[in-house]
Amino acid sequence: MELVYSNDQLLMVNHVRNLLDSAYIESELRNEFLGSGAGDLAPLDTWPELWVAEEDVEKAKSIIANMDNESALVWYCQHCDEENPAAFDICWQCEKAKE
Ligand SMILES: [Zn+2]
Repeated sequence: MELVYSNDQLLMVNHVRNLLDSAYIESELRNEFLGSGAGDLAPLDTWPELWVAEEDVEKAKSIIANMDNESALVWYCQHCDEENPAAFDICWQCEKAKE
């Protein structure tokens, strides 16, 4: 297994995981529950991480590289201030349209 993606936003990591999923790449999510209350670990160590099998690493990385151009950005909901991945057209929390 190799680490291909990490982000402090679990939402983004899940988004990437879905992208890989739709490309038939199986991924493993690590550190999912370490984000808060991780004590004295460095913040970077507690980011959720996506790991894929060796044979899928190159494909996964190219998918992630393409995605980085636009959908790695986030937007903030005008209604509830929730952070959303750019790929979302509506707020995942309150379901209001992106403005
Ligand atoms: Zn919202």
